Amino acid sequence: MRVGIGYDSHRFTEGRKLTLGGVNIPFSKGLAGHSDGDVLCHAIIDSILGALGEGDIGLHFPDTDAAWKDASSIMLLTKIVELARKRGFELVWIDTVIIAESPKIAPYTASMKEVISHSGISPSIISIKAKTNEGMGFIGKGEGIAVHSICLLRGLSS
Ligand code: MG
Repeated sequence: MRVGIGYDSHRFTEGRKLTLGGVNIPFSKGLAGHSDGDVLCHAIIDSILGALGEGDIGLHFPDTDAAWKDASSIMLLTKIVELARKRGFELVWIDTVIIAESPKIAPYTASMKEVISHSGISPSIISIKAKTNEGMGFIGKGEGIAVHSICLLRGLSS
């Protein structure tokens, strides 16, 4: 068994869609980023990579590489789920916390699980929780969104 932790944060910017877990959420701003800015997928990716001991998202998908410009983070996540299998591991559980002052995230978590399942992560092995930061700090001021993720992998041969 292996555990991994992932964290990511992105700032809000005008003129972009807000995409979380592959779901477009109606909001006045989106998240800045080289890819689609999907901070939930990025944190999940880093937690899987952490458990694999394979570096982080920046190593696999450098933001200097035009191939990943505006890339779908669900596609990036799919590649990392495939990498885990290739390395001989299966995903046992992923738990996440999205921290955002607004918009309200809870109404969209079921849809996020459904879209994330396209990457090969079954909805039955992922938890997506959401909370505000009680008005404190950069999240409280509505400057961006942060996500924590933890994942458990099991060796396919063990
Ligand atoms: Mg990111």
